Amino acid sequence: MNIKKNKFSNNFICHIIEKDLKKNKNLSLHTRFPPEPNGYLHIGHAKSIYLNFELSKLYKGQCNLRFDDTNPIKEHVKYINAIKNDINWLKYKWYKNVRYSSQYFEILYSYAKELINKNLAYVDELTKEEIKSYRGTLHSPGINSPYRNRTVKENLELFEKMKNGFFDEGKACLRAKIDMNSNTIIMRDPVLYRIIFSDHHQTKNKWCIYPMYDFAHCLSDSIEGITHSFCTLEFQENRFLYNWILENTTIKNYPKQYEFSRLNLEYSILSKRKLKKIVDYKFVEGWDDPRMPTISGLRRKGYTPSSIKKFCQKIGVTKQNSLVELSVLEYCIRRELNQTAIRTMAVLDPIKIFLYNLDSSHKETFTVPNHPNKPELGTHEIIFTNTIYIERSDFKEKYEKKYKRLTLGQKVRLRYAYIIKAEKIEKDDNNNIIHIICSCDLDTLGKRPKNKKNPSVIHWISTENSMPAKFRLYNKLFNTKNPEKKEQFLSYINPKSLIIKYGFIEQKIGYEIIKKIKKSLNHFFQFERIGYFCIDLFSHEKNCLVFNRTVQLKDSLR
Ligand code: ATP
Ligand code: MG
Repeated sequence: MNIKKNKFSNNFICHIIEKDLKKNKNLSLHTRFPPEPNGYLHIGHAKSIYLNFELSKLYKGQCNLRFDDTNPIKEHVKYINAIKNDINWLKYKWYKNVRYSSQYFEILYSYAKELINKNLAYVDELTKEEIKSYRGTLHSPGINSPYRNRTVKENLELFEKMKNGFFDEGKACLRAKIDMNSNTIIMRDPVLYRIIFSDHHQTKNKWCIYPMYDFAHCLSDSIEGITHSFCTLEFQENRFLYNWILENTTIKNYPKQYEFSRLNLEYSILSKRKLKKIVDYKFVEGWDDPRMPTISGLRRKGYTPSSIKKFCQKIGVTKQNSLVELSVLEYCIRRELNQTAIRTMAVLDPIKIFLYNLDSSHKETFTVPNHPNKPELGTHEIIFTNTIYIERSDFKEKYEKKYKRLTLGQKVRLRYAYIIKAEKIEKDDNNNIIHIICSCDLDTLGKRPKNKKNPSVIHWISTENSMPAKFRLYNKLFNTKNPEKKEQFLSYINPKSLIIKYGFIEQKIGYEIIKKIKKSLNHFFQFERIGYFCIDLFSHEKNCLVFNRTVQLKDSLR
């Protein structure tokens, strides 16, 4: 087949679609993204969003957003709002209105009655445990429920009673009558409806029976005219039931389900249920904590929609389950920020330097580029005076052969400025350094030292150009590569997943940020020699801007 080159590298799904298009010239691709509003979206959902929305764009079709809201106990409007917000942020537009499975409850109920009328569904009064044990295993067949042979009339009456609240929760359910000997366990009389006495965020107290995912999903797809229903591999077996329900009801559209591998990401949990535990037990500050692999967490960490899409494109879509390296995700944002982030200096763990041969009135202004090779990103000014901050880790009292930064008697160059030499240190009574006394060679601006090679360059900030800032350094949330595989996943949380530092940023940059914060713009920076950071719009503290580390300058995982 001759498929046009596309961002999916012609994966197996494109082959399926192209084949279908060839068979049916009038086919208009219609996909959907169907989240359950029981938590925030994570990067795994981004993979599914990317697939569904980009395919619909590529083939000039449509993509619906449908909340699969069949379990009122776990769902909440706050999740609906967060999910819509995340999809909007990713700059995807769903087709027409947001849909809810719950808006079809009435129609679904009539399809259930249709199955009963065809003697293909019955009301069962076994307990949940009994149903489970009657179901059998991969090696043993199931056992028919003693309620399986009720008459159609009796079943219709009982189902009506279920709907009217006659039965307590767990006392009755509607099951499809398929085959208790089926090799596919899911086809052994699956439950279609259960009783839940709980208000629903959309339908309030109208219903006390709720369709199961398998019953609602295929029919909702059909009602919406979905042509291709993509889901993850765990649903492979459910496809038999998906098709059985469609074949046995008088629906008009026959969507087809196709499965692809779910995203698993190193050092991350991608399951809303487990992520909720991390939030509930307060291992993080919330669903949008930058350590979370949620879309909102990544956003707050400084990821952009384009970096997330790039990641989805890179990992592709296959049928093989794998564990994607975290460095792939980090690469995508680092690559982008390398092009777009403003370069500036910040000192995260400051120590003071006093340049003794300069006057206290010495003040110079240098204009420095915002980006080393993008003049269009402009310039900003830095101030040089006789008292500056440098990074504590850029100084060692004693000379060490391999240590190339500042030590007593040795020289370094201050970025964009002069070469200085450490002469002396002053300590307090507890042997802590108060400041380092250095000499400054004013003859070295933009010049190599005579007959010598250039010393290392370190970053710095003048005390007169400094603004206090808080830096949040995020590390992996888990200590183990595949926490999904660990039963006690919470015991693998990295106690050093967040390290906080108080230091300084350039004051002139700080003022610019404060001016723009009001416009809610995100700001991305490369703090030279330190890493990529973004301003945290949600938590500036009094007199102190807060920065989140998006990613380190180099891949730390290798
Ligand atoms: P979770 O376990 O996180 O709740 P889920 O599959 O139950 O996942 P849904 O809200 O039902 O969550 O998912 C909506 C869509 O996103 C589904 O089509 C599902 O297949 C897809 N999806 C969920 N997790 C992943 C993942 N890790 N990789 C790819 N797609 C995913
Ligand atoms: Mg689900």
